Amino acid sequence: MSVQQAIVDPVEKGLLIGGEWMSGQGTVTVENPATGEPLAEVADADAEDARLALDAAAAAQETWAEVAPNDRAAILWSAFEQMMERQDELATLLTLEMGKTLAEARGEIAYSADFFRWYSGEALRVEGTYKVSGNGDGRILVMRRPVGPCLLITPWNFPAAMGARKVAAALAAGCTMVWKPAQQTPLSALAMADMLAKCGLPPGVLNVVTGSSASRIVTPLLADPRLRKVTFTGSTEVGRRLLAQAAEQVLKVSMELGGNAPFLVMEDADLDAAVEGAVIAKMRNVGEACTAANRFYVADSVADEFTARFAARLGAMKVADGLDPEAEVGPMIDAGQRDKVAELVEDAVAGGARVLAGGGPIEGPGYFFAPTVLADVPAAAKLLHEEIFGPVAPVVRVAGEDEAVAAANDTEYGLVAYVYTRDLQRALRICERLETGMIGLNRGVVSNAGAPFGGVKQSGLGREGGNEGIEDYLEPRYVAVGV
Ligand code: NAP
Repeated sequence: MSVQQAIVDPVEKGLLIGGEWMSGQGTVTVENPATGEPLAEVADADAEDARLALDAAAAAQETWAEVAPNDRAAILWSAFEQMMERQDELATLLTLEMGKTLAEARGEIAYSADFFRWYSGEALRVEGTYKVSGNGDGRILVMRRPVGPCLLITPWNFPAAMGARKVAAALAAGCTMVWKPAQQTPLSALAMADMLAKCGLPPGVLNVVTGSSASRIVTPLLADPRLRKVTFTGSTEVGRRLLAQAAEQVLKVSMELGGNAPFLVMEDADLDAAVEGAVIAKMRNVGEACTAANRFYVADSVADEFTARFAARLGAMKVADGLDPEAEVGPMIDAGQRDKVAELVEDAVAGGARVLAGGGPIEGPGYFFAPTVLADVPAAAKLLHEEIFGPVAPVVRVAGEDEAVAAANDTEYGLVAYVYTRDLQRALRICERLETGMIGLNRGVVSNAGAPFGGVKQSGLGREGGNEGIEDYLEPRYVAVGV
């Protein structure tokens, strides 16, 4: 039996509605980006299927909200344990549908499991307040209640983690939901939903609707008065559209959107650490991460050395099918994404950028792109202003801290920034000046289930993970108490 058959065949491929696996109006093909070959057929939902899923979520809401926190926590803890027990199998599924290397996929499964662990604790810590009113003639009681049925929309780049981050928080808060995963990577979502059902999650609490048309599923749900919240992870462009649609029903919204992360290397940086951090911040997930370092601003005096060492590291990485145990870089998600990145590189090179490593796509099958480092990138190059979403690192020399910070903030995005310096005062000063929701200080990775993940400016609204993450699924309810 092939790996594909052993891992993909057992996954449920229908729509999960009210605890039943149902067929849709046809099927959608899921492709393996390392080969371009079909991997599986999953159900294709229409508006009626979406409505049935919301019926189930709405019907389960009151009962789920009343489930004892200990019991909700037990289901979440069991999900954590299950995911870790099945880490290799779930990681292989992730690699097959999304392309990332097996090592990265194992990391994503562990990161996803961590959200279930974290929120099994948070489920027990939903607190309220009680106080005497100022004039003493009453009491102010504030309870925190679940928002109600939520719509979850997730992207293809972290098919397990982006779902787990929302599902675990919503479950801990007592919300029911309809989850629409990305069309290209629905299998990890289906496997996770099946796992949660086996961990004892009651029918209807989590419903999963897959399909070929996001708007056909999402638009009627956003117009349905029973829906109380939409939480979206994806591009800023689609996020803006969803915000406009959500305004009609005045829905509560959480938006985890695009990024354009600057990576600052000051002249006093530990260059070994900076190069190591740059490789991680750029190459994690083939650069297809909202947190991917998109622009490298390096102090003049260390720019040549940093750039040469960085280019040598990227140029030596092994690009291969993510299932290959030696692969360090897998394929990009599809031909469109690969071609978009190639165009951005061509635009920079036409403007005068020098290619120090890689430079373009690698012959298929599959959608591979050589890890690329560009030096002397002109300020007008498109890849300094757009989210590259690929394994390309443009390096720009800067005179010092002020120029680096001004360049870093010169974007409508504000998700994450990375800073390398050994001077504590300078580090804190730069962290205060950067306009981002997150900062990696002498670190190339920020993601952590216990930390508030999210952006400012056009990178989003709200936070996921940490103590803050559950807040987005709760509403304060004030009771004026007469005494
Ligand atoms: P995308 O095109 O915005 O799609 C994301 C999700 O939205 C998918 O499920 C997609 O469904 C759905 N969608 C697309 N058009 C829609 C519409 N008109 N109405 C409702 N739903 C719609 O983003 P992507 O290409 O999958 O992901 C990459 C983007 O996500 C990047 O910009 C990245 O920075 C961002 N991202 C942000 C974070 C964060 O935490 N801030 C994390 C990861 C990724 P289909 O698959 O069916 O099109």
